[in-house]
Amino acid sequence: MFEDIPVDVGVIYEGERIRRKEMYVELGGPKVDYKFELVRVRKPEEVEDGKVVVIGPDLDQLEEGKSYRFGIFIEVAGKQLEEDLEGIIERRIHEYVNYIEGVMHLNQRYDIWIRISKKSFRKGLKSFKIIGKVLQRLFKSELPIIEKIQVTFITDPDKVKEMWEEAMKVYEARDARARGLKDEEVDVFYGCVLCQSFAPTHVCVITPQRYSNCGAISWFDCRAAARVDPKGPIFPIEKGECIDPIKGEYTGVNKAVAERSLGAIKRVWLYSAFGYPHTSCGCFEGVAFYIPEVDGFGLVHRGFKGVTVNGLPFSTLADSTSGGRQIDGFHGISIEYMRSPKFLQADGGWERVVWMPAELKEKVRGFVPDEILDKIATEKDVGNVEELKEFLKKVGHPIVKRWEEAPPKEEVEVAPEAAPEAVAEAVPVIAEGQIAIGGFRIKMRNVKIKAKKLIIKRRGK
Ligand code: SF4
Repeated sequence: MFEDIPVDVGVIYEGERIRRKEMYVELGGPKVDYKFELVRVRKPEEVEDGKVVVIGPDLDQLEEGKSYRFGIFIEVAGKQLEEDLEGIIERRIHEYVNYIEGVMHLNQRYDIWIRISKKSFRKGLKSFKIIGKVLQRLFKSELPIIEKIQVTFITDPDKVKEMWEEAMKVYEARDARARGLKDEEVDVFYGCVLCQSFAPTHVCVITPQRYSNCGAISWFDCRAAARVDPKGPIFPIEKGECIDPIKGEYTGVNKAVAERSLGAIKRVWLYSAFGYPHTSCGCFEGVAFYIPEVDGFGLVHRGFKGVTVNGLPFSTLADSTSGGRQIDGFHGISIEYMRSPKFLQADGGWERVVWMPAELKEKVRGFVPDEILDKIATEKDVGNVEELKEFLKKVGHPIVKRWEEAPPKEEVEVAPEAAPEAVAEAVPVIAEGQIAIGGFRIKMRNVKIKAKKLIIKRRGK
């Protein structure tokens, strides 16, 4: 695509996975404590267009096979640019970095995870300045409202930490701006399909009270994005008729999601993890997972390093949740949605949450009544489901009352309302971590399959 760039650049590289043995280095990711990406809108005189700065060792000075603290800081200027657009421009970093051959970008904000492949490094991708140049060209061609752009990469560990602290304040200020508005007070929600390169049936529905799964895009951000980039991945959704205000089902949402998922997803309940839950791509900030033995939900965030109360780490739960599917009891969510009054309201809201990491508890403190929050177990209180049951009884968690009315079952059940066909149609074909559609639809009923690899080959015409 660019003659002076040593590797190819294009949409075909979106969704490319780089496994550990293929990687030259890892920037950010689960092994690293501080990482971030941040975009700020500046005055024109504050941005030097085309400038790329590297603070700390450049790519060819990093040791092969290692993981590093990392930051990407982009400053932009333009007559039409406003602060409301920062979150949207920032989210495009994910898309454009993934256009570069041999570069994988996952997640967002303080959770970024980038890998550079050995192959691309050998081809000449040896400096962050090259990546910076590509980003500048893509941003300016795809979003012409950006008139000037300056990119800074940070690998100096102390500087990453210092700038991470600043970035966290900016994220919080953005999230706070979006609080207060209710879903009932607007006629339009927004959809986002930016993550379809990783999960082709996934459509995020962003409402004032249901923040995007990645936690990086609010309803206000979407409104600004749809205005300045009407052909982009974010689009308005007329709410239409409200079919169920508790579950959060709207005719307009069902229609838009069916169109954008090419018919794979036909109904969505915005405020439930059962029946027709909102789909999950792969870059959600956390997972709500059903624990049948106590008929409650566990919550876990991406940064949690231990195992959850059911013995599974975040990565395993994330695998069960991702891929643009509707899976009963596995629900990819953002932390900001956990702070919403609509959080899982159809399933009992916070009164149904029984376990969460202590760190996550602190992130939602102040948004959830203390009398409930204090009755939710953490990894410091219990180590397995049996201990969890005892803990819940001891503290008088509201779930215990629910057990008296209907004892918990040991198996996850598909809600009766969930038409088997709808659930089956949402099952993607996953091959080597990629989702393939290719004109095939596989329907499965009443089966449980665990496979490491599934290869489907066409035999002649
Ligand atoms: S998680 Fe949703 S809102 Fe965020 S970038 Fe992906 S599709 Fe868009």
